[in-house]
Amino acid sequence: IKVLAIETSCDETAAAIVQNGREVLSSIISTQINLHEKYGGVVPEIASRMHVEKINLVIKEALEAAHVTLDEIDVIGVTYGPGLVGALLVGVVAAKSIAFAKNKPLVGVHHIEGHIAANYISHPDLEPPFLCLVVSGGHTHLVNVESYTQYEIIGRTRDDAAGEAYDKVARAIGLSYPGGPKIDKLAKEGNKEAIKFPRAMMDEGYDFSFSGVKSAVLNHVNGAKMKGEEINQADIAAAFQSSVVDVLVGKTMALAKERHLTKVALAGGVASNQGLREAMEAVCTQNHMKLYYPDQILCTDNAAMIGCAAYYEYLKGSRAGMNLNAVPNLPLGKK
Ligand code: ATP
Ligand code: MG
Ligand code: FE
Repeated sequence: IKVLAIETSCDETAAAIVQNGREVLSSIISTQINLHEKYGGVVPEIASRMHVEKINLVIKEALEAAHVTLDEIDVIGVTYGPGLVGALLVGVVAAKSIAFAKNKPLVGVHHIEGHIAANYISHPDLEPPFLCLVVSGGHTHLVNVESYTQYEIIGRTRDDAAGEAYDKVARAIGLSYPGGPKIDKLAKEGNKEAIKFPRAMMDEGYDFSFSGVKSAVLNHVNGAKMKGEEINQADIAAAFQSSVVDVLVGKTMALAKERHLTKVALAGGVASNQGLREAMEAVCTQNHMKLYYPDQILCTDNAAMIGCAAYYEYLKGSRAGMNLNAVPNLPLGKK
């Protein structure tokens, strides 16, 4: 089964051809990062317009790179939420048009289900159930992945998402959008003990809060400014990252132990964070658990992960009609 997958939920216009769920025949990602960089974040109106400009070309490139024609495609999969409504609509309309014109089944995919599914592509042996820590630009979830299509959210952030905190802290210390990868790199050169940032809600269940550590960094930066002192970017990056990673690792491990889950996966843009991967790897080894995370390119937004999730939804019998609409706050959960 060949899936043509389309992803336009934020600032990446992406299309991919995925065979039988895990075999990526092509994956094209057109990122708008340089367009949004000067505004310090994604501007929804610009994102929508760029998706309109790029979508047909990106789909054509995906088909060409996979050496398949539209007639050879069995299923059209598309992200229909959550995300920016105008951005999502571009992908949804493109997918519906192709499905209608070529009379192909259409499957709507939850974007976070896609992020989780990225693990199946990078790890052909991985099967549910497992515990997944979803850490992306807009989400921080601890998810019990019960099956390929059933999810139980056990913990979530009460305020900022992990990626969002990275981006905001990066901006505060003078790094451009997206700040996550830049902080990750700088953290290697810094001393994480130089500054002490809070670890919020560490022993209070499985929800997260990252606005406290973000505020602490802002206070530290403003304090230095008032005193006319230079800030040490690398030390701030290292201390901030250590605070975030401690909380993510601590809660994930506590939950895995409580539920007797021996497989732990990371998903979303922050899953490419080197500090998080290393810390998680260390505790997983210590506790005889196996850690999974997607290849770097599959951590941030792409359509291959959507194609994988669409395949399993399709097998389950999920079909969308021509009334499929973008749902900006689509919840992930049991169906
Ligand atoms: P969502 O998936 O929740 O809708 P999104 O699609 O915008 O949000 P992703 O594409 O999953 O988010 O990830 C982007 C986020 O990942 C950004 O916040 C970015 O800063 C962060 N990120 C990417 N690489 C790293 C890294 N190495 N370390 C920390 N954060 C990172
Ligand atoms: Mg993005
Ligand atoms: Fe995403």
